[in-house]
Amino acid sequence: KQFLICPTCPNPIYHDINVVFSRFCSPCDIKELFCTAAGLPRNTTISLVDSTGAMVSIDPTMPNKEELFQNVLTQVAEQFSRAFKINELKTEVTNRLAMLEKRVELEGLKVVEIEKCRSDIKKLREEMASRNNSFLDDNKKLTPRRDVPSYPKYHLSKETIDALRQPVFDVWQWEPNEMLSCLEHMYHDLGLVRDFNINPITLKRWLLCIHDNYRNNPFHNFRHCFCVTQMMYSMIYLCNLQEKFSQVDILILMTAAVCHDLDHPGYNNTYQINARTELAVRYNDISPLENHHCAVAFQIFSQADCNIFSNFDAEAFKQIRQGTITLILATDMARHGEILDSFKQKVDNFDFTNEEHVTCLKMVLIKCCDISNEVRPMEVAEPWVDCLLEEYFMQSDREKAEGLPVAPFMDREKVTKPTAQIGFIKFVLIPMFETVMKLFPQIEDVMVQPLRESRDRYEELKQIDDAMNEVRIWIEAGICTPLKNKTKEDSIVVTDMI
Ligand SMILES: [Zn+2]
Repeated sequence: KQFLICPTCPNPIYHDINVVFSRFCSPCDIKELFCTAAGLPRNTTISLVDSTGAMVSIDPTMPNKEELFQNVLTQVAEQFSRAFKINELKTEVTNRLAMLEKRVELEGLKVVEIEKCRSDIKKLREEMASRNNSFLDDNKKLTPRRDVPSYPKYHLSKETIDALRQPVFDVWQWEPNEMLSCLEHMYHDLGLVRDFNINPITLKRWLLCIHDNYRNNPFHNFRHCFCVTQMMYSMIYLCNLQEKFSQVDILILMTAAVCHDLDHPGYNNTYQINARTELAVRYNDISPLENHHCAVAFQIFSQADCNIFSNFDAEAFKQIRQGTITLILATDMARHGEILDSFKQKVDNFDFTNEEHVTCLKMVLIKCCDISNEVRPMEVAEPWVDCLLEEYFMQSDREKAEGLPVAPFMDREKVTKPTAQIGFIKFVLIPMFETVMKLFPQIEDVMVQPLRESRDRYEELKQIDDAMNEVRIWIEAGICTPLKNKTKEDSIVVTDMI
């Protein structure tokens, strides 16, 4: 057979054999390859026709023909290579096309699914609206607010603004919207809105969201949050903390106070742990409530329209977050001894430039504010004891019903207002405030003295209670007869006589 291969032919011969021609491939090898490809014996004579039409032998043993032959082979090789490249490209394009087709198919499915989800959500919304039950009330929690909060703005009078800086402030006479306005005022007044470029509308929304995320417990409610924050605000002025601390520290102190009991369920850590609640399981029995308060606080900050720190850079946010977490976790009374001991070790050589010292002081300050009701005037402080006992009794009743251990100080059979308060004031409050007094002597008159007075008053009340119990014992034993129209004073007289 004779093959005519024209090197300038625009339609090269393609073959399905995958051949790679090396630049160093010998003419003999090529010839052999041609023969194999064409199914011819290896010794077949192959002829080439050059551009002039002359027949050329390609016998490689003839030196004068070698150059031409090499040229032709190079061109053939190039044509083969181009052909293979086109094939490769074709395969690649086909594969990519198949992939794109698959994606279009999948995306199409997704669109169908999204449409279905949309219609499901719509149906669910309509169902909820038609039922009009309390489910909707729960739903308002943590939902973003895009509008300006509509709580009735309370305009603070000059007297209120002045009183707000004092621990004697009457925390009972304010509605929630008034307390919100007071908290808002504190952030402005301390220069926090100005110094940290806080959006004033975001501040309002955040505070409203904070209010919505405190439950209506007898004690651990939004008013308690307000009290703790107002006491912190008072202490900042009383102790001139703005001269000692950075504004970041002031922001941390205030924000931790506002957030410190968020979503408190009304049952303490002991209950959470003994009842193996979801919170105790989630936080491995380690300060479950305080961890939860903190987590809720930062869930609120994660909503852009409630994030008062949105203008902070990553580093500043990290600092605020760490500081706030440390302070909220410090409010677990199980850590009281540990934190106070650590502070006692530092207080005699206190160094405001030492970060560890400052952090420890901030922890003690939020602890002081958290349990500061007895610092307030008796008329303001006493109703809180009733609130606390109500919450305690609610817990102990539940513990009894569930067969869980009951703490004596929560048991309605064992505790009275004076017994509940005396130990707490003598062994927790006074020692802690007296330690802080070493650093800030000005708190003695305003904070420590009221605590001592409260202690004395409850001790007197306890003496009366004890005396009345004694009389009851005498009466029950038939030794003494009860007086008609008996009053507390009468009982004392009787006891004195006995
Ligand atoms: Zn608290």
